[in-house]
Amino acid sequence: MHTVESVRRSPHAHRVLTGDRPTGPLHLGHYFGTLQNRIRLQDAGVELFLVIADYQVLTDRDVADRPAEHAENLVLDYLAAGVDPQRATVFTHSSVPALNQLLLPFLSLVSVAELGRNPTVKDEIAHSRQSAVSGLMFTYPVHQAADILFCKADLVPVGQDQLPHLETTRTIARRFNDRYRTGLFPEPEALLSTAPLLPGTDGGKMSKSRGNAIALGATEDETARLIRGATTDADRHIGYDPRNRPGVAGLLQLAALCQDRDPHDVAAEIGSGGAARLKATVTEAVNEHLRPLRRRRAELATDRGHLRAVLAAGSERANAVAKATLDEVRAAMGSL
Ligand code: ATP
Ligand code: MG
Repeated sequence: MHTVESVRRSPHAHRVLTGDRPTGPLHLGHYFGTLQNRIRLQDAGVELFLVIADYQVLTDRDVADRPAEHAENLVLDYLAAGVDPQRATVFTHSSVPALNQLLLPFLSLVSVAELGRNPTVKDEIAHSRQSAVSGLMFTYPVHQAADILFCKADLVPVGQDQLPHLETTRTIARRFNDRYRTGLFPEPEALLSTAPLLPGTDGGKMSKSRGNAIALGATEDETARLIRGATTDADRHIGYDPRNRPGVAGLLQLAALCQDRDPHDVAAEIGSGGAARLKATVTEAVNEHLRPLRRRRAELATDRGHLRAVLAAGSERANAVAKATLDEVRAAMGSL
């Protein structure tokens, strides 16, 4: 049965895990790339686990010197976007030891050559501006397998950059089941949105740590300023051509996503109004779309204690689930 149909018919037969690195506030790439899908799944009745991947920040402490503060702010963004803490489990890596212990047996199931081939890891290394690359960097996809498999998630709403990682998780699940003759782990499926790789204001992948993002929590003025600074081109006639005009196309895509329209229609409406008119249209569309979310976010931001309580409750639940899975894994491996 098709996944979407299966979720609709029996949401309780599925489980979702996905997450974010606590390197900064969530942005429009997260929102249209995965966050909306997470919330849709939650609202359809699927159990949602959200990992705040703080052990994946150890490799870039220059951008993430305050992981706990970033973690709380991620919770704020989640709740503002519609994550329901009564139903969803939100936790950090560092608060769930049994999850991290899964890393050891999982590492034994992949080769060094396989880890070295991961294109997303290569891209992240290229952007990390580090003189020496740590071993941890190469094990991120395996750690991610532990994130997904500790709760036996079968659906993973992610952006396109995560597809190679998800392939590693599927490989590890399959190899574990084969080697230990068990059916313990599902082979999870990625769920891509219609915007699996939203560009940022410089035309590259919008990322927290690349200085090209429009944060969900930005003010309307900041949003306008960031969009004004976006890379476009000199052609005054606005057309949707992602291959030849990536900057203009990214902005059109953004307006279209916010207004639930086709980017060609947005372009036609702007016609020969040039980059200035395009940017004004996009700013208006983004600010309008995010207004209710930003209002909720401002209210939630006044109660930091609540954000910490959501994390504490999530951590407790995640620990219980992780311990149960680790027991099963150890039993399968002959009590190792
Ligand atoms: P960082 O720069 O610190 O790596 P990031 O912006 O890449 O931050 P992550 O925490 O690495 O964000 O990614 C969290 C999730 O958001 C992943 O599923 C990823 O695929 C998705 N995502 C991130 N950026 C985009 C984007 N521009 N378009 C679509 N999805 C995205
Ligand atoms: Mg990233």
